[in-house]
Amino acid sequence: MQDLSQNYINGKWVNPVGSDRIQIINPATEKPIAMIANSGADEVNAAVSAARAAFKDYSQTSKAYRVDLLQKILVTYKTRHDDIAQAISSEIGAPLTQTMALHAATVIFHLETLLKELETFEFYEDRGTTRITKEAVGVCAFITPWNFPVHQVSSKLVPAIAAGCTMILKPSQVSSTSTHILAEVFHAAGVPAGVFNLVNGAGSRTGDLLVNHPDVDMVSFTGSTGVGTHIAKCAADTVKRVGLELGGKSANIIMDDADLEPAVTAAVQGLFFNCGQNCIAPSRMLVPQSALKQAAEIAAKVVETFVVGDPNNEDTFLGPLVSKGQWNSVQNYIQIGIDEGATLVCGGVGRPDGLSTGFYTKPTVFSDVDNSMTIAQEEIFGPVLCIIGYENEADAIEIANDSPFGLAGYVQSASHERAQKVGAKLRVGQVYLNNPEYDFGAPLGGFKRSGYGREWGVFGLEELLEVKATIGFGQ
Ligand code: NAD
Repeated sequence: MQDLSQNYINGKWVNPVGSDRIQIINPATEKPIAMIANSGADEVNAAVSAARAAFKDYSQTSKAYRVDLLQKILVTYKTRHDDIAQAISSEIGAPLTQTMALHAATVIFHLETLLKELETFEFYEDRGTTRITKEAVGVCAFITPWNFPVHQVSSKLVPAIAAGCTMILKPSQVSSTSTHILAEVFHAAGVPAGVFNLVNGAGSRTGDLLVNHPDVDMVSFTGSTGVGTHIAKCAADTVKRVGLELGGKSANIIMDDADLEPAVTAAVQGLFFNCGQNCIAPSRMLVPQSALKQAAEIAAKVVETFVVGDPNNEDTFLGPLVSKGQWNSVQNYIQIGIDEGATLVCGGVGRPDGLSTGFYTKPTVFSDVDNSMTIAQEEIFGPVLCIIGYENEADAIEIANDSPFGLAGYVQSASHERAQKVGAKLRVGQVYLNNPEYDFGAPLGGFKRSGYGREWGVFGLEELLEVKATIGFGQ
């Protein structure tokens, strides 16, 4: 078992004061792979002090300096890409082929996207004799989940470096082995002492100390809606800026003119990727009532092709769920779906045959789901698809928007113009029309209880900047 008890504070790896530790479990083997600190007030105070001290100089550095730093991080990161991919696969159970192709690569996408934006981005503009400057928001606390560990972390760290902020990262205690390597990258790339600090620990301990710390200016959080709500309340006492990237229950409207087979196939592959643990997963598939039976058959056929098993095998598409807690939660939702009267098309409760060790679950499809059912309203965050029938276009839009969440929406139609019109009516932060390529320069963020604030590209940078007006500057 790796001993990763040290935190990274003020440019050095330091031992925590106490002996409180958390074990990181490999969900495929159920064996511990690493140990991290469950940091307390000593570590959090030291990290915030270091970030506060470093802010004075770092916030005044030039754009050229920060661009150079981001380029050094990019070059250094590429040398550790494979180590990160391996670490993610071991800590969250995602297939190695997927952590190599996507998870680890996202850091490169975020760095390259922002470096491109910075070629034209200006930190000031003159409006008459008034100068408007965009300045670093200050000392930031970043709190992140485990489902795409370095992706979520880098969508905060990269713009923070560009903005001139200093930061304390508290990654999920479930996935801190990959972020440990990321901290090594930041150190090796020459990020000045105190600009980036890593403090590991549980949310209820280390996270809580950070969000209540009076010397933190901004909390940017990605995670569940429940924890996000709590964080916003804590941050209010000291008027911290808050960014919340929360849960989702995204609808995928397959219009009556869409080619059903490819539309359902792509949607099923999209949902079940990363074992369904994806905030923008198209977990509610909306099809015309008349196509309900056929859509369920296609979905079941696609699911049959998925290999569930060892994340190290090349043909594995679904590894285990991340933890025993997540496994219990997903089982509970599958049982609720059965009890609520949805039609179980494939999957169900329990482990897949032949997999007695590891938090494996059966990829599950429900059809005849009513949108008012628990499985259609709550985020399951696992490989469970709900197929819901609709009467007409207006009904489909109504069902899609009938959700407490508003993170993403999907539309499939033979008429791209029609897809655009339907997409415009969805109350969500991101709309995907006819299975486009990912765009890491597009803003990510939620409407409704999916949060507020935007990340990725220039939108993530703007989020970490304060606007200052100097009137009479040009006289
Ligand atoms: P979580 O809310 O349980 O934990 C997220 C982070 O918050 C972890 O680092 C955790 O330690 C910390 N935390 C927990 N309690 C805390 C407290 N009281 N104070 C401060 N910090 C605390 O979420 P999770 O299980 O790690 O991740 C899954 C959730 O994240 C899902 O709801 C998913 O939709 C959401 N998510 C959203 C996005 C997005 O961009 N909108 C992206 C990925 C995941």
